[in-house]
Amino acid sequence: MNPTHAEQRQFPVLDDCLQLGGITLPRLAERVGRTPFYAYEREHIQTRIELLRNTLPPALHVHYAIKANPMPALVQMMGLLVDGFDVASGGELKTALDAGMPPSRISFAGPGKSNAELRSAIAAGVLLHLESEEEMERAARIGDLLGLTPRVAVRVNPEFELKYAGMKMGGGARQFGVDAERVPAMLRKLGALGLDFQGFHLFCGAQNLSATAICEAQRLCLHLALRLADNAPAPLRVLNIGGGFGVPYFPGERALDLSAVASGLHELMQTLDAASPQTRLVLELGRYLVAEAGVYVCRVLERKLSHGQVFVITDGGMHHHLAASGNFGQVIRKNYPVAIGNRMQAGPREVASVVGPLCTPLDTLADSLELARAEPGDYVVVFQSGAYGLTASPIAFLGHPPPLEVLV
Ligand SMILES: *Cc1c(COP(=O)(O)O)cnc(C)c1O
Repeated sequence: MNPTHAEQRQFPVLDDCLQLGGITLPRLAERVGRTPFYAYEREHIQTRIELLRNTLPPALHVHYAIKANPMPALVQMMGLLVDGFDVASGGELKTALDAGMPPSRISFAGPGKSNAELRSAIAAGVLLHLESEEEMERAARIGDLLGLTPRVAVRVNPEFELKYAGMKMGGGARQFGVDAERVPAMLRKLGALGLDFQGFHLFCGAQNLSATAICEAQRLCLHLALRLADNAPAPLRVLNIGGGFGVPYFPGERALDLSAVASGLHELMQTLDAASPQTRLVLELGRYLVAEAGVYVCRVLERKLSHGQVFVITDGGMHHHLAASGNFGQVIRKNYPVAIGNRMQAGPREVASVVGPLCTPLDTLADSLELARAEPGDYVVVFQSGAYGLTASPIAFLGHPPPLEVLV
């Protein structure tokens, strides 16, 4: 049994081939027309969101953070399943609006918003997550200029950080949000500027697999927000407590205990209902909704033996999938789950490294991993690839064609 495939139960196998969206991989590759490509499975995304709906408090709003995967067809589909979108650039804002999401359900976060982005967000009427006092003043000036009142929330940089997060984005000195201690003064100014205050946004970190740490951070976020709301120029309408739900990528990682997170959230909803019943609680999730629904597929070009080590050379690599090469925030390189997609169970096995066509040793998709013995023409599949794949990769590096993307 392939140890990497053993962790991959999300897709069925037929005739030794992986099936995505009910299509066996070689046939899907024919349909796509060429390799490499990313494939995202609709059913997996739907099932994941159903699970959230059945587990989390019904009044909780679930937003999709488009950054995780901005493929237009996927975003369009997501628009029918979630309560709102979180965007972090003018480009993502366009994608969100094009997908038909009402502006009242879109929020725009991120430091360094340009005047052009602020103008377009204010004209659209989306919720601006202010990342600094300076941005607040620019938003107010642009609102005056356009004769519109910007809807705003303040992104707060809390004093605490999210324990065990793969990527910390709050606590201590950060480029994100406004330090909690400066928020009361900012709120006075915000009222004086006549901005339409809606609430707060707190996002402490991403890729967290510890339910205890997530619950603790969310509890602290709620209490901080309720405290800060005392100084606000209007009632707290929206409280976005971030997300940070992780997915298991590497051997030994365990899936997040969603029911434990949900029971923490049920308690929070009760606290919020008692203290501030008019407030909508929002969770913003990116990778948790899409990462496990996606694979990256490339094709074996040749086998090479060097000093007794097998290298499987493919037409795909780090230029398409930086994260799987270990160069997107990993401290120590670990293998993503990888399999030979047309030899899922049968046939001989070997230890091999899967590499791409780039002239750099960084171009490695799997390092000394046990795999089915692959031949030229076979399909290499990298799992957990539905988030931070194509758009988080240096696709121009070495001048190869970009991968295709399909939603199946
Ligand atoms: C990146 C980001 C997210 C999504 O993070 P995931 O790890 O994909 O869930 C959500 N909110 C903000 C503010 C972000 O910057």
